[in-house]
Amino acid sequence: MINTLHLDAADPAARQDAIDRAARLLREGKLVIIPTETVYGLAANALDPAAVERIFTAKGRPQDNPLIVHISEFSQIEPLVSQIPPAARLLARRFWPGPMTMVLPKSRLVPMVTSGGLDTVGIRMPSQKTAHDIIAAAGVPLAAPSANLSGSPSPTNPHRCAQDMDGRVEAIVMDGDCAVGEESTVVAGEGNKALVLRPGAVTPEDLASVLGAENVTVHPSITAPLAPGQKAASPGMKYKHYAPRAEVTIVRGSGEAYRAFAAAHAGPGVWLMRFDEDGEVPGLPSLSYGSMGDPRSQAHLLFEVLREMDEKGAETVYAHGPQPGGVGLAVYNRLLRAAAFRVVDV
Ligand code: AMP
Ligand code: MG
Repeated sequence: MINTLHLDAADPAARQDAIDRAARLLREGKLVIIPTETVYGLAANALDPAAVERIFTAKGRPQDNPLIVHISEFSQIEPLVSQIPPAARLLARRFWPGPMTMVLPKSRLVPMVTSGGLDTVGIRMPSQKTAHDIIAAAGVPLAAPSANLSGSPSPTNPHRCAQDMDGRVEAIVMDGDCAVGEESTVVAGEGNKALVLRPGAVTPEDLASVLGAENVTVHPSITAPLAPGQKAASPGMKYKHYAPRAEVTIVRGSGEAYRAFAAAHAGPGVWLMRFDEDGEVPGLPSLSYGSMGDPRSQAHLLFEVLREMDEKGAETVYAHGPQPGGVGLAVYNRLLRAAAFRVVDV
């Protein structure tokens, strides 16, 4: 059983008590699951190597997969980094607090275990009020990867956190569904330029609106598998990720072509991950993961629907491919990894 700390907006004293208890546990080096606007995070004091070790153990996460350090005020960044390039300042001013992580050269204060052995550190300032209040009350930056077992879809509600993390953490702060539902955009800044290492709700177009399109590059590994021997710019991208037990295939094409493909591939254990607009395909069970033209709705539902596919006992899943523009790039990126890059065009 996990200790649950409930947040009742109607009872400010009880809310503050839950936040204070979470903060105390974090200061003591314990693991606490916290809500953020992206996904639920498995948090620990980012500056305490022993506490950070516990995150890796609880998740079964490879040691070379760096953690994102969460702050509540911009001033907290200074001791964590050796340098803040101009692009990073501009992006922070525009997109913090919010679902964007910046990779910056780290200071000696950040333990190597936190940065996965790299000399850079990913830093983010979440916008969700509860996350902000917990970080502020803890008084230390918090390392907080998604609160799932390594490899499975990230949790976007407390129920999914408990499924993966029961017995592995001290407490969970319950605060409903995550607004975004996908992990943050990860950006490396250098000079006036930004390189997108992982797409998220802050899109390349958003970054370009601040830095100019000529200064924003999207890393090729976002939509293509790494070639043998190629080094991942963003270590998380080299692992199989977000994957249900079922074999997922992305089917790209119009609604009509998708339905025809699905009908031709019906069989035992086959499920569809479709859009609302696709409607039901006779004889085939399906779940919708949002509206075709609304990538934010897809981002919100994707991980939950991937987990539901496991609960339904799906063995083969045909997912209607999202349009990879704007926030849809993040949806496509996660789905590609859940599908181990199996894509068919119809
Ligand atoms: P998450 O598992 O959502 O907490 O996100 C962590 C991911 O952010 C990692 O798997 C990396 O892909 C990326 N990341 C974090 N820190 C760095 C870093 N220092 N350099 C490059 N990518 C990073
Ligand atoms: Mg994760």
